[in-house]
Amino acid sequence: MKIHEYQGKELFRKFGLVTPRGFPCFSVDEAVEVAKKLAGSVWVVKAQIHAGGRGKGGGVKVAKTLAEVKQHAESILGMQLVTHQTAPGGQKVRRLLVEEGADIKKELYVGMVVDRVTQRACLMASSEGGMDIEEVAAKTPGKIHKVFIDPTAGLTDADAEDVSRKIGVPAQALKESRELLKALYRCFDETDASLAEINPLILTGQDRVIALDSKLNLDDNALFRHPDIVAMRDLDEEDPLEIEASKYDLSYISLDGSIGCMVNGAGLAMATMDTIKLFGGEPANFLDVGGGATAEKVTAAFKIMLSNPKVKCILVNIFGGIMKCDTIAAGVVTAAREVKLSVPLVVRMKGTNEDLGKKILADSGLPIISTGNMGEAGQKAVAAVKGVKS
Ligand code: GDP
Ligand code: MN
Repeated sequence: MKIHEYQGKELFRKFGLVTPRGFPCFSVDEAVEVAKKLAGSVWVVKAQIHAGGRGKGGGVKVAKTLAEVKQHAESILGMQLVTHQTAPGGQKVRRLLVEEGADIKKELYVGMVVDRVTQRACLMASSEGGMDIEEVAAKTPGKIHKVFIDPTAGLTDADAEDVSRKIGVPAQALKESRELLKALYRCFDETDASLAEINPLILTGQDRVIALDSKLNLDDNALFRHPDIVAMRDLDEEDPLEIEASKYDLSYISLDGSIGCMVNGAGLAMATMDTIKLFGGEPANFLDVGGGATAEKVTAAFKIMLSNPKVKCILVNIFGGIMKCDTIAAGVVTAAREVKLSVPLVVRMKGTNEDLGKKILADSGLPIISTGNMGEAGQKAVAAVKGVKS
């Protein structure tokens, strides 16, 4: 699960990280009120969307008067903000963060992820903070320093200070930097985050170390332990089809292609997408209906796939293990009738009660393209999209 920058900073502050003072706003009037409350003479008006690269897209503006706060809030609130992380049409801005302006002397980068190889939390840090950390990683990987953290010890003082020095934190700011990094580790660990990133972490003119941005991704599997974080969920930022799928406990991810796929098992779903691509097609989604799919679940899955206007064909690929092929076939037939299926449907079924399942499909009278193996299923789905008979 993703959360907004201002929510990430609220969590940061709970763990003792220093951030600029600021408040979320949902209207232009509120933005001006917040700026007045913060006092001072420089403010930053920041678009709150679940995507990075807002600065470059025009979603982060510095204001030197209250009139400018109003002006920036008016232009950012409601805009379609396009960044390299949003869909091409951008994301509508519905929330702002108004903060006190910071006196930036240097922009640094720190981020934390789980490293699969060492099976440890990994702190990454760089002197090259700001907007283009991906470019730094690609062109000058030597400028990214890593610390692999022993879970029994946590981030040690020595490691936190060492990495701070490597990214150019001056001696007089080392203590503050060390404490911030240790707090970041505690935050990452205790919130069950999969990513905790501060870009930029800044050094101010007074040699203070402050988290100017926040990005926290939380592990969905651990959310049951964090009702306070679940309450931060913003459905406006999520794909409506993915929200619908989550109601039925379906693992669904929207993609850009034209072949909707319904598969049981995540591994088989990945292999199905590979097969589609092998024959020159593009999957419209990842969808794992799980081991215990009922007719109701299958119908919901069909409806979700078909509400995507890009879908030109549906490929069902089922391995009947615990789940029997006849159950799936009955579900597919019911669903196809209920949604008045309007695109070609290719089905490949193997396993328990396979013959019975195939008979149900054949007897339904629906124009289902039944296939024997996965390669054939992929080829036929791709051919169906292209409108040619294979
Ligand atoms: P992102 O582009 O979505 O990652 O948004 P950030 O929060 O990182 O902001 C982008 C850039 O805006 C930062 O790298 C800073 O250069 C600038 N910025 C953000 N806050 C302030 C501030 O308080 N003062 C000044 N001068 N610049 C800021
Ligand atoms: Mn940033």
